[in-house]
Amino acid sequence: MISPVMPVYAPAPVRPVKGRGSWLYEDDGTAWLDVVGGVAVNALGHCAPVLVEALNRQSEQLWHVGNGLQISGQRELAERLVASTFADTVFFANSGTEAVECAIKTARRYHAQKGASERVDIIGFDGAFHGRTFAALNAAGNKAYLDGFGPLMPGFRHAAFDDREAWERLIADPRAAAVIVEPVQGEGGARALDFAGLQHLRQICTRHGVLLIYDEVQSGMGRTGRLFAHQWVADAEPHIMAIGKALGGGFPVSACLATAEVAAGMAVGSHGSTFGGNPLAMAVALAAFDEISREETLSSARDRSEQLRAGLDAIMRRHPGVVLEIRGRGLLVGVQMVVGNKDFIRLAREFNLLVTGGGDNVVRLLPALTITEDDVSELLARFEKTCIAAQRFMAGAAAAAAAAAAAA
Ligand SMILES: *Cc1c(COP(=O)(O)O)cnc(C)c1O
Repeated sequence: MISPVMPVYAPAPVRPVKGRGSWLYEDDGTAWLDVVGGVAVNALGHCAPVLVEALNRQSEQLWHVGNGLQISGQRELAERLVASTFADTVFFANSGTEAVECAIKTARRYHAQKGASERVDIIGFDGAFHGRTFAALNAAGNKAYLDGFGPLMPGFRHAAFDDREAWERLIADPRAAAVIVEPVQGEGGARALDFAGLQHLRQICTRHGVLLIYDEVQSGMGRTGRLFAHQWVADAEPHIMAIGKALGGGFPVSACLATAEVAAGMAVGSHGSTFGGNPLAMAVALAAFDEISREETLSSARDRSEQLRAGLDAIMRRHPGVVLEIRGRGLLVGVQMVVGNKDFIRLAREFNLLVTGGGDNVVRLLPALTITEDDVSELLARFEKTCIAAQRFMAGAAAAAAAAAAAA
């Protein structure tokens, strides 16, 4: 018998009913240190007072009207996003994958309007994740997520993250419309493209008239200690950018940003959304934006990132049999493991520590940008206890394997 909830997830045996800051609580009061934050969504922690206040205030005024009427919060949030990025215009949607969908449509439409309708190819990178709609799946090209869902869509090509010659060849192709890349891969295992790599990518895109799309759904909104991850790098701005996750601090909202030139084709009727940019979403996202973009929030995120990385480096030196490498940027941290990452995640729960996984056998740490110094210390202490447990677990598994081999 199938579960009434379609069984596409395998949730951990934890059922939080309340959250405050970096902590989650179950019915019986059990407390969990949450270093997942709904996968980089709760950038301000759980139930941040400014967000609770914004949601409550708006919920008594107006929830939803649809985009057939003017929604005042949209203009305010769009103006803030435009003022703090390369972009001139913003489309609001509800999820990351929809923002990516809009990015791809905007790119193709730009070329079509210029009379270059042969330019349709979207170039993606291995290890990428862009969401679960068809275009996003085809852009990422992850076979496991495409399996059984019919033919691959035409117009998508892929290059290895490290293979710069392959990028250049695909971008030089006259059918190329756009490159889509996460400046720091999230699901791929906190893999950051180096600064020179991003600059190089922008240069070859410019040279060949190909658009550059950043998927900053995970790396954006302060996650790396700047508002957007690519803003660490000079001369590497995109033409289009998809954002989501932390944009609403926990309220579902996303956006596709673009330059005026590139978005020129997105005229009335070319795209739309029922819920996109609704009053509730805008009220919460405005409050989240103002809080996340404050210099105090971003500099605190950078300080906590240094504290976390220094602590993890020390743990790696003390436990070389468990930890291989620390990667990522800011508070998008990946710890590559010797032990299976799923085993590590399970063992961490014995210490009431919630972490998540990523490609390349990585354990991903995505604390709130507002995590306190004490909570980072607590996180490091629990992480190290988990490393010790993982060492024991691996020794036990090895002994069991040896015993089984001897018995056979
Ligand atoms: C999570 C994520 C998405 C998809 O976002 P949804 O809200 O789940 O549709 C897209 N791109 C990146 C980089 C992500 O991390």
